[in-house]
Amino acid sequence: PASGSPVLRVRNAVKQFGGLRAVNDVSFDVNAGEIVGLIGPNGAGKSTMFNLVTGVNPATSGTVEVLGQAAGRLPARAIHRLGVARTFQHVKLFPELSLLENAMMGGYSRASAGILRSMLHLERGEEAALQQLALTQLERVGLREQAYEQAGNLALGQQRLLEIARALVADPSFLLLDEPAAGLRFGEKQDLSALLKKLRSEGVTILIVEHDMDLVMNLVDRLVVMNSGQELAQGSPEQVRGNPAVREAYLGA
Ligand code: ADP
Ligand code: MG
Repeated sequence: PASGSPVLRVRNAVKQFGGLRAVNDVSFDVNAGEIVGLIGPNGAGKSTMFNLVTGVNPATSGTVEVLGQAAGRLPARAIHRLGVARTFQHVKLFPELSLLENAMMGGYSRASAGILRSMLHLERGEEAALQQLALTQLERVGLREQAYEQAGNLALGQQRLLEIARALVADPSFLLLDEPAAGLRFGEKQDLSALLKKLRSEGVTILIVEHDMDLVMNLVDRLVVMNSGQELAQGSPEQVRGNPAVREAYLGA
């Protein structure tokens, strides 16, 4: 997408679970080339919003358009194939498989309809190319040396980095990260922040949910603040920091 054009357009999105409105009338855009932070207290509806955007759940009402497509009408893998990749707050890896095999999964699912089917049909040359790509992305997140270890043996913070590598193997134009820095040490957070800025400079658009305010405020171009399913504020880090409603509801100051 051209720089500045909308990659994500959310209008009056509602997601109802029984009697609970986990997302309640939320509207915002993410434009090409931006890093946008989606913040708010636990239970605000941030992960639910990610599920609406990535086709895991359809919205109850309202519209969620990602790369020009109505997210609720497409299965998750079709949205992935558009160039939308994500990580999960509750890490979803194959713990018995190696880091390399897990990272390669990011390529299979984008290339074809089902992981198993595409693994069986992958040509030798394609397999080697995918492996090389996966190693490159593991290197980028600092996990190259552990490529042949079991994913389940990694510390949780490293598992999150592995999920980022897997997402990058899909060569996404839009990357959604759900609490990627949770469990990382200070230096690792700085490396993550530098990587995300590098990705932005390469044209990748990023939506990030993250509780580490220092990291978020120094990284994002814009912020969307949610609270109890609703959108509380939007704006630059400075605008959001100075917003009294945000300070009261979230920053606790
Ligand atoms: P956040 O990511 O901001 O912490 P979530 O989107 O995970 O918040 O959750 C928002 C609210 O929706 C919470 O009250 C949560 O319990 C509820 N919720 C999330 N997913 C489901 C689901 N699949 N079924 C029922 N309730 C859910
Ligand atoms: Mg969440």
